[in-house]
Amino acid sequence: MNVVVIGAGESGLGAALLAKKLGHEVLVSDSGSLRPQRRQQLLQAGIPFEEGQHDLSRMLGADLIIKSPGIAPNSPVLAALRQQGIPIISEIEFAAQHTRAPVVAITGTNGKSTTATLTWHLLQRSGMDVALVGNIGKSFAGQLAEREAACYVAEVSSFQLEDCYAFKPWVAVITNITPNHLDRYEYSMQRYADTKFRITQAQDASDYLIYCADDAETRAGLERHQVKAQCLAFSQEKTLSQGAWLHHDQIVFSLNQNSFTMPVPKLGLRGKHNVYNSMAAGIVARLFDIKNDLIREALSDFRSLEHRLEWVADIKGVEFINDSKATSVNATWYALESINKPIIWIAGGVDKGNDYSMLTDLVRRKVKALVCLGVDNRKLHEAFSNSVDLIVNTNNMRDAVKAAFHLAAPGDCVLLSPACASFDLFENYEERGRQFKECVRDL
Ligand code: ADP
Repeated sequence: MNVVVIGAGESGLGAALLAKKLGHEVLVSDSGSLRPQRRQQLLQAGIPFEEGQHDLSRMLGADLIIKSPGIAPNSPVLAALRQQGIPIISEIEFAAQHTRAPVVAITGTNGKSTTATLTWHLLQRSGMDVALVGNIGKSFAGQLAEREAACYVAEVSSFQLEDCYAFKPWVAVITNITPNHLDRYEYSMQRYADTKFRITQAQDASDYLIYCADDAETRAGLERHQVKAQCLAFSQEKTLSQGAWLHHDQIVFSLNQNSFTMPVPKLGLRGKHNVYNSMAAGIVARLFDIKNDLIREALSDFRSLEHRLEWVADIKGVEFINDSKATSVNATWYALESINKPIIWIAGGVDKGNDYSMLTDLVRRKVKALVCLGVDNRKLHEAFSNSVDLIVNTNNMRDAVKAAFHLAAPGDCVLLSPACASFDLFENYEERGRQFKECVRDL
């Protein structure tokens, strides 16, 4: 078979390696230029590639196109290939065709990486041979090209789901659905939500869908779609008959007459959002029949991922927390909500049309001072000048951390949770978070 992989990112490389291993003719085509390391990897694997262009005549001879999630669905090259009737699928769809192992697929607007990693942690703590694949770590196809595992936990973005058709995870998780990437979906929330529901389209009654019953968009999606999988929900607002819910400060997990509780203060991850993520991961673990005691233990010894409400240091009674991954107002809401001390809040960067109004109440109650960290801080001033007494401007991390420490008293918390993208001052959110930690350690 002749396979063309469009896009030479992590998932493109994985797809090409798997296709090659399966004995197909493979070409990788990228309209941009490849990083030297990627060129090296492809050369080493003996996989032909082209860069800076797509040679349509070569592509038209393909039997199968594997499209990387970054390629816009309406690009002219794809239109031409579609017209010829050549099947176009995502790397996840391709990988899933080549394993019989159960797959837990996790999608949603927020909490994918955390829920996927936590689920992986729960399963592997029980001794299962489980691989974590998708956006974090190796691509699904890349993992398969290297080694088969007994089970996969896959973080799946909506861009990947756009080109899935027969992908049939044993367990699908939709963490939540809130506005994001709407530019790609003609500004239609319904279209965006429908893409997330593609995770369920090939499931049958032997499969499961785990979802958040408190999320209105997910509930609306369930009404629109005929989900055949067995549905299990989690909630912090109501008591359910199965799944996971709150009773005082305990999470109740209940499945097939088997119930157990987990005290919220014992969870390894803090914050209301992480109660949701822990509920989802705990239900998955129950489906795999992992012992209740072990689930409890693993939910409590899991530590947060880097840049997500990551504890950094305690200096002279001031706690420092790195939540650089919070690039949206919604993510920052959860960070502010989770901290029960006076907060010196470092925020700002590239604002993607943010509406800060949902933060006003929390900011008024919890934030002592706001340290703006961005090239243009005007919107933050406009949004919060009435709710915070003290707002200062900075334009580099060192000054921001110094100013925050200066404003903090023992018992306060300095929180970096920008609610904005990072690329006015930093390469990406990881660099922003790393600089924060360095500057804190230099204090
Ligand atoms: P994703 O992989 O979907 O981007 P992450 O697990 O990396 O999500 O978390 C990114 C940020 O989103 C976190 O720092 C947190 O502020 C926020 N977040 C995490 N889980 C949830 C959730 N269940 N609901 C809302 N926000 C969340």
